[in-house]
Amino acid sequence: MAHRVHNFGAGPAALPLPALARAREELLDWGGTGMSVLEHSHRGDAYEAMHHDTLLRLRRLAGLPDTHEILLLQGGASMQFATVPMNLLRPGEAADYVVHGAWGDKALAEAKLVGDARLAGKHPTCAATVRDEDLALTPGAAYVHYTTNETIHGAQYHQVPDAKGAPLVADMSSDIFSRPFDHARHALTYAGAQKNLGPSGLVVVFVDKGLLARARTDIPQILRYQTHAKSASLYNTIPTFAVYLLREVCVWLEERGGVAAMGAENDRKQRALYAALDEHPGAYELPVERDARSWMNVVFRLRGDGAEARFLAEAARRELVGLRGHRSVGGVRASIYNAVSEASVARLCELVRDFARG
Ligand SMILES: *Cc1c(COP(=O)(O)O)cnc(C)c1O
Repeated sequence: MAHRVHNFGAGPAALPLPALARAREELLDWGGTGMSVLEHSHRGDAYEAMHHDTLLRLRRLAGLPDTHEILLLQGGASMQFATVPMNLLRPGEAADYVVHGAWGDKALAEAKLVGDARLAGKHPTCAATVRDEDLALTPGAAYVHYTTNETIHGAQYHQVPDAKGAPLVADMSSDIFSRPFDHARHALTYAGAQKNLGPSGLVVVFVDKGLLARARTDIPQILRYQTHAKSASLYNTIPTFAVYLLREVCVWLEERGGVAAMGAENDRKQRALYAALDEHPGAYELPVERDARSWMNVVFRLRGDGAEARFLAEAARRELVGLRGHRSVGGVRASIYNAVSEASVARLCELVRDFARG
């Protein structure tokens, strides 16, 4: 058995051990082909079968109806910050962006370079999501973009914002498949893979076929959603190994009971960790408002000089790693994605209690 620590890193993040073990087992000889999956042509039967099985599993896990297409793209979620407006925003149209953290901000900044992208609502401190009544939406907007979970600030939408009938676009990079979610109610959802799905670089997109049919075609071929839809995401050489690992993560998710079972487990994890932190208000400060607390990224600060450094040192001693907050906000952040087990969270709760008691 390899030595494994408790990884609370924000991304690239912990992957399910069975997925990694399977990859190791099969690395030199994939499915009796005498070659690694890394060495197979993306046009060959073996790869194509695995690729289509991945798409099928993603559809099952998402509960995605036929109204939506699945795309596997490159460039991470940041590439989508650019390609969403390039495909969906036309001259003379406006797109609305709801911002409650760093990623929403970046998405808006990119969209502004493409067209008339407007800030439709912002949380001043990123300590919560933006309430529906605080949204200033543009009538007839091409779409409304929001971030389901702000990975850095630790605030998450627990219900879908009311876009007043405009197509909804959601960046779900850090909470996709963490609990049941109505993808079909969204025109487009996307997620960089390295938090809950697999290796970095790959991004999964679910897009409404009607919207796809109207997407712009006056942009470079490689950036068009239609290009990738027409070729089942095999237009050019896809990162084949990333797709392979994505499939293994999907297999693992389905074996565990899918997104509903994951949601129940993630709920237990977040309840346990927030409860431990709430027990010691003298030691820990939680900046995010209660009703927006993220199930995936639990952000907190330690009170007292030098306490944070001592906490992180004790965490490291117990092999709890990846807990330092994002460089832009500081503090501590425990990312408890799907692949972070209840046992790992229990170890962190233990540390939270032990440290507060001194
Ligand atoms: C990590 C993250 C991104 C950026 O992903 P890249 O793959 O590095 O481009 C964007 N949005 C959210 C919500 C994220 O968590």
